[in-house]
Amino acid sequence: MIGVIFGPPGSGKGTQAARIETEFELAHLSTGEILRGEASRRSAVGRRVARVMSAGDLVPDELIIDIVARRLRRPDVRRGVLLDGFPRTVEQAKALDELLAKDGRKVDFVIALEVPERSLVERLIKRAREQGRADDTRKAIAERMFEYRTLTAAVLDYYRLRGHRVIEIPGVGPVESVFDRIKKDLSISPSPR
Ligand code: AMP
Repeated sequence: MIGVIFGPPGSGKGTQAARIETEFELAHLSTGEILRGEASRRSAVGRRVARVMSAGDLVPDELIIDIVARRLRRPDVRRGVLLDGFPRTVEQAKALDELLAKDGRKVDFVIALEVPERSLVERLIKRAREQGRADDTRKAIAERMFEYRTLTAAVLDYYRLRGHRVIEIPGVGPVESVFDRIKKDLSISPSPR
């Protein structure tokens, strides 16, 4: 099973992804986490990634596609994977389809978390206070929202138009209630194959 968890910054993707992976025994692939690891290195790439991320911009498609392609070749992905934070552009979505098609696989479901923008900014500011993530400054948050609206939102239309199973989930309320909704929807509706 190949799944994508999709939603604007602060929609709770990472939190829900961790629960879904445990429940459905899927490998975890968070591009944000991989890139934060990369950014903590002193290499030239690491420094470049750190700069892009702290400004709230997206790293170049080629870089992230290459990282994901390598990660998808690892054996733990065979039984299934949940992609968190990827794809974020239509180019990335196309590249993912091509990568998966080589092995006769495809994206089986897309979970789209829906949260109003006002609540997102509040959540991100709160996370900045609690965790101190470098890209949780007001300026970087505004940029990430802009990137989401202008580049990432179109990815959902890409999946809808191509007939993938898109599950829309209201991402407001307690974490456990959101997870219950996801669990219910993922368990009942059959995956179109
Ligand atoms: P996240 O943890 O998913 O919010 O990602 C944090 C940051 O990592 C983003 O704001 C981007 O700078 C970068 N990033 C993560 N995933 C991608 C991606 N698929 N494409 C480009 N940049 C990404």
